[in-house]
Amino acid sequence: MNAKRVVVFTGAGISTESGIPDFRSPGGIWERFDPEDFTYQRLMKSPESRKKWWRVFQERGLTTEAEPNPAHLAIAELDRLGKLDCVITQNIDSLHQKAGLPDDKVFELHGNMRWVVCLNCGKRYPVEQIKARLDEGEEIPDCEACHGILKPNMVLFGEMLPEPVLKEATHRSERADLFIVIGSTLIVYPAAYMPVYALDAGAKLVIVNLSPTPVDNQATVLIRAKAGEAMPKVIQRVKEKVRAV
Ligand code: NAD
Repeated sequence: MNAKRVVVFTGAGISTESGIPDFRSPGGIWERFDPEDFTYQRLMKSPESRKKWWRVFQERGLTTEAEPNPAHLAIAELDRLGKLDCVITQNIDSLHQKAGLPDDKVFELHGNMRWVVCLNCGKRYPVEQIKARLDEGEEIPDCEACHGILKPNMVLFGEMLPEPVLKEATHRSERADLFIVIGSTLIVYPAAYMPVYALDAGAKLVIVNLSPTPVDNQATVLIRAKAGEAMPKVIQRVKEKVRAV
């Protein structure tokens, strides 16, 4: 593999083999929940809507006990081989870091579930701390310091993406010479612009996804297989190439 700047872009599909359902596949999250209930505006609306909000989060499991699968591990291996520039992810499950990638190599466009933040003073709480309060019977946890509204550190519908993360992810995409998409429908924007930026700048595109994406026809390699099965084979090929050099 001659590529110098490999950027991996991941969506919910990379984590389905870790037991976290994606949004749009059959049996996905949108068949069981109404997206309208999870908007930023709904969270801000009233204590009553916040109560419902936290109840759903508590039931769905605020902390993810999921473990990385062979696809996450393969990407971490790519990094150990010195072949990874960064991962840009739409996921909030932090499984890339759990697989061994350092925080500064993972750009979480939609935030994560590790922290809960106060919208008033910015104080951050580990999610386990808030979960413990919910488990003890608190219905609407608020900030201990200023009683402000708390929100998991993930981007909700109707909310802006974190600007510095989006800026750096855009920059890395534009500099990539190989851009690998894994497990994304590529229809959630602005995240889905990343492969377009990479293509426009001349990068080669590899897609590993079970269903079609809008940029399939621009891919140099299109792998219609499960990420957890395909990625270890891809890494094996990279290793052989690295050894042969
Ligand atoms: P999506 O649900 O729209 O699409 C997932 C894609 O992955 C589909 O095209 C599907 O065919 C494919 N897929 C499913 N399992 C696969 C597998 N094992 N191997 C290869 N491909 C597989 O997901 P998206 O495009 O990432 O966008 C939805 C939004 O959902 C994102 O913004 C993300 O923030 C959020 N989300 C995150 C998580 C998570 O953190 N794990 C889970 C659900 C949704």
